[in-house]
Amino acid sequence: MRVTKLLVVGAGPAGVAAALMASSLGMRTTLIEAGQVGEKLQAIGALENVPGGWSKGAELAEGLATDVERLQAGGRCALVHGQVERIVGTDDQVEVVLASGGTLVGNAAVVATGVHSLRTQDVDWIDASAELTLPPLWRTSAGELEAARHTVVLGGDRPLGTWLRAHPHAAVELEVLYPAVDAYKIAEVAEDPRVRAYEIEHVVAQTSVDGVHLTVEQTVGGLLTVTADVVLGNMGSKPAVPDGDLVRGPDGYCPPTVQHPRILIAGDLRSARFQRIASAQGSGAEAVLAHYYRAVDAPN
Ligand SMILES: Cc1cc2nc3c(=O)[nH]c(=O)nc-3n(C[C@H](O)[C@H](O)[C@H](O)COP(=O)(O)OP(=O)(O)OC[C@H]3O[C@@H](n4cnc5c(N)ncnc54)[C@H](O)[C@@H]3O)c2cc1C
Repeated sequence: MRVTKLLVVGAGPAGVAAALMASSLGMRTTLIEAGQVGEKLQAIGALENVPGGWSKGAELAEGLATDVERLQAGGRCALVHGQVERIVGTDDQVEVVLASGGTLVGNAAVVATGVHSLRTQDVDWIDASAELTLPPLWRTSAGELEAARHTVVLGGDRPLGTWLRAHPHAAVELEVLYPAVDAYKIAEVAEDPRVRAYEIEHVVAQTSVDGVHLTVEQTVGGLLTVTADVVLGNMGSKPAVPDGDLVRGPDGYCPPTVQHPRILIAGDLRSARFQRIASAQGSGAEAVLAHYYRAVDAPN
């Protein structure tokens, strides 16, 4: 089985690394992206764990877009803008069906669609009134929060630490209400005096004339009521899994080792445990290399 045409779904760090590796191995690649290349990186205000001197997500996104343009100019990669709805593996090919109706066919597909932010209705520790939508913390500017009287952040996911590092001089006070599962992430920001964090069992959030009224059941300390003029979401994420033949593990993620042999999983979609840019890039490149060696029947 020789791979000559590779489909790559998602042009984040994992998908672009896969396309670069595929191109270096002589494969023709079609990269399919619902938004812009490196779209999700735009929100990362401060980067300190990605090799290459990148200090902001937007800079890295621009670098990835330049990589893709270079591949396109060399005739080794086509970029298709579209939402992938369904991925189906057969004995000799993979079909990728677009929401617009078209179908792309390749010898194999790397799926690197990453994750979506969780909404209040996705978690069992928040009851929120239907009209309440929480803006994500990571899309909120320092100015907006400096102007707020009382800011509450629901959830202790890692974008909290990224936001604080990106705005080291922001004069803010963030009251963070988080479930026990986020405790190890909260420990990473415990030194920052701008954070007051409370582990909670449950919160009921209702809009009121003064903002959002929160009835909080703390893990220690009993019931607490708070009214905040700004309430932001930071509850974490869930895998963005297209329909079709992708196999999900018990946590909803797609472990690479249990998939159809022509469907390769890379990046954040693999596991909640490995959601970093550098590991996404490594996994994209490695998925293509491993598949290439299987295809040419050489030892990995
Ligand atoms: C606020 C924030 C701060 C972060 N800070 C850091 C940090 O400091 N350091 C670090 O290492 N990591 C950080 N991360 C994590 C990092 O962004 C991810 O680990 C990394 O982007 C994962 O890369 P990926 O290619 O797997 O997925 P993504 O970057 O999410 O890319 C997936 C791509 O697939 C596209 N896509 C999704 N579904 C479809 C579909 N159905 N059809 C077509 N295209 C689709 C998306 O538009 C997206 O462009 C941060 C994340 C957030 C949210």
